[in-house]
Amino acid sequence: MKISRPIRARIRPAAILNNYRQAKAHAPDAWAWAVVKADAYGHGQLRAVDALRSEADGFALLECENAVALREHGVRQPILLLEGIFGIHDAKQVVEHGLHSVVHCLEQIDMLAAQARTDRPLSVYLKLNTGMNRLGFTESALPTAWERLKRIPALNLTLMTHFAEADGERGVLWQLERFQAMAGEWHGPVSLGNSAAILRHPLAHGDWVRPGIMLYGASPFADQSAEEFGLQPAMVLESRIMGVQTVATGERIGYGGTYVAERPMRIGIVACGYADGYPRHAPTGTPIAVAGKLTRTVGRVSMDMLACDLNDIPDAGIGSPVTLWGPGEAGYVPADAVAAAAGTIAYELFCALAPRVPVTIDGQ
Ligand SMILES: *Cc1c(COP(=O)(O)O)cnc(C)c1O
Repeated sequence: MKISRPIRARIRPAAILNNYRQAKAHAPDAWAWAVVKADAYGHGQLRAVDALRSEADGFALLECENAVALREHGVRQPILLLEGIFGIHDAKQVVEHGLHSVVHCLEQIDMLAAQARTDRPLSVYLKLNTGMNRLGFTESALPTAWERLKRIPALNLTLMTHFAEADGERGVLWQLERFQAMAGEWHGPVSLGNSAAILRHPLAHGDWVRPGIMLYGASPFADQSAEEFGLQPAMVLESRIMGVQTVATGERIGYGGTYVAERPMRIGIVACGYADGYPRHAPTGTPIAVAGKLTRTVGRVSMDMLACDLNDIPDAGIGSPVTLWGPGEAGYVPADAVAAAAGTIAYELFCALAPRVPVTIDGQ
């Protein structure tokens, strides 16, 4: 069924492939887990996997069921469960489908050891807590983990950690030092870098990097754009003007009357609201493109609509194209710029894309 309300998300598989190649170019000596968790950051798990099918070294996600779905979809590459197993059923699936699994606590090791078989090597990513303090073994917990891992008869082990501030001033060296101290004499494979470490910290990649946000063409940094790294936006959110109002000076726009017109204004009403995934906290002044020109939102974002300033776009009217983010028909608005204006990150915008928004795929 074709939905006539004009909002659309457009996914660009060629951009995802380009961005994966950029990750590999930045980490030329590493293998890469293409992170497709959270429905590929809102882009669609299978769409992202299909875009990378011929090149990705492996795919990383959260749910065992989704990993099995990828196997059933014909994916032959290794698949990593980034948070490991959540129960015995998952442990069985890991063994049966040859999944790679993170272990961050003793309970997970024990569940896997109970299912492990001598004829099926088990690939385990031992997660070290080096300062994120979310998941993983601390230095004092590590000896017990090593002991318990001996209960897995055929074990392929990789050590991993996750950086908390790879995008910030504190960087990664402090965590890297802790990692090396904890790893001790370990000479096997290690997995370290997320997108920010891949792009900014060449010494913090390891044998397997784990690019996520960069695959989707957004920047992990507040102070450096995705474009500077050769990344291409993988999602476009676009709609159309569905109403126009001409208002006098002093009139207010939208719920709460937060915007007061300082002069006579032409206001465009866009068919896009927070129920589509547009951030409700985006304030007046958030960038938006209409009919080839950059302009700004005005007033509060409603559930199904938002308002924008058409004063400098006299040709725009009902039916004019609008780009909320990405390189759209109406112009290019970086998702990072919308996110910054709304006090969030592009990760959240992409993941919040609502199920009611119809999705099209470029080239199909
Ligand atoms: C989500 C995730 C990543 C990817 O992070 P980005 O910042 O999106 O590159 C890497 N590693 C782990 C463990 C993750 O959970």
